[in-house]
Amino acid sequence: MRTGVVGAGVMGRDIAGLLANAGNSVTLVDVDSDALDAARTYHREELPDALAEAGLGPNGTPAERLDYDTDLDALADARFVVEAVPERLDLKRGLLADLDAVLDPDAVVGTNTSSLTPSAIAADSAHAERVVLFHFANPAIPRDIVEISGDETSTAARDLTVEVAEAIGKHPVVLGAEYRANGLSRLSASIKCAATWELLEASPAAIDGAAQAIGFERGPLEFVDLIGLDVHLATVDNLAEAYGDRYAPPPESRERMERMREEGRLGMKTGEGFFEWDGETCIVPDTDETYDVTPVVAALVNEAHRLVRDGVGDPETVDDILERGSGGDVGPFDVEAMLGEEYLREALVRRHEETGAGVYDPVF
Ligand code: NAD
Repeated sequence: MRTGVVGAGVMGRDIAGLLANAGNSVTLVDVDSDALDAARTYHREELPDALAEAGLGPNGTPAERLDYDTDLDALADARFVVEAVPERLDLKRGLLADLDAVLDPDAVVGTNTSSLTPSAIAADSAHAERVVLFHFANPAIPRDIVEISGDETSTAARDLTVEVAEAIGKHPVVLGAEYRANGLSRLSASIKCAATWELLEASPAAIDGAAQAIGFERGPLEFVDLIGLDVHLATVDNLAEAYGDRYAPPPESRERMERMREEGRLGMKTGEGFFEWDGETCIVPDTDETYDVTPVVAALVNEAHRLVRDGVGDPETVDDILERGSGGDVGPFDVEAMLGEEYLREALVRRHEETGAGVYDPVF
């Protein structure tokens, strides 16, 4: 099948690699030719090992099925296109409208958006029915999940998207309802937000150390560092449009993060954020400080209940989303079964009384 990806950044280059690995011909489009050059080098030099490590082949030489262009017209005969341009509604909306002039009417466009909805992105397109959430976890190659949704998406577009997800070796999770931020992004937003409230009580090392001690692969503040302080603050603002202050940090932590942003301490990409980084390795220092991470865990379970209540998925699906999206083997409802609903609810009630933070407002 002829496919395309728009946006050759962190996500787009891996999504293009996965499509090519499944035997599709792929055109990767970016406005920045340097980004395309970097993606080309990555596909030739690093993609085969990344696919092999994830147990996905490689299937022949995927780089031979990829080409690169700065012009959207190169996607003219593509049947399935993924957009992975930056998380800005105006940009994505404009792109979808531009694609109308290029693609056949029955071509499908998957959006990798983390905090917008397919319907909002399709608002200026004459073909909202072809736009579908096609959301990968980061890193896209090893994480075995693609979330799919779209209130206005046609059955044909959704079916093709499920087919593509399976063909590239991912487990498609079709969400029951379209919401800003999909399942994984909401679960992740809840623990990152809770961790920024817990910064009023403890140091980053104590919070993340305690999270790792109970089995988190990465602590929540390492996760903020990983995606970048700038991206995290933009996501918080973005989600506030739909969810009010539910994922908002307290003013003290917001100021702290804004200061870090001004100082260029953005996390992994600048070598320092809440923690120091050695390349892609986060250095979480040991600390003697004791900290009980239950409120962060309780916020995660609380958000899982919200997802069920909103009709995004049943508890089994929500567990599956976290396990596959984090590469772990424990979902929020497994955690609830282990720690007890009452224990977690008490932690939420206590922290909600102390802070008034929406993330701790118990829904179960
Ligand atoms: P990125 O900044 O690494 O890459 C975006 C690329 O898009 C850049 O190379 C940029 O030059 C290009 N671009 C900008 N405007 C363009 C245009 N008009 N046409 C073509 N290319 C254009 O971004 P990213 O982290 O890969 O994120 C892309 C999308 O994936 C976002 O919607 C983001 O929310 C989503 N997402 C990101 C992650 C993550 O952890 N990074 C995880 C899941 C989903």
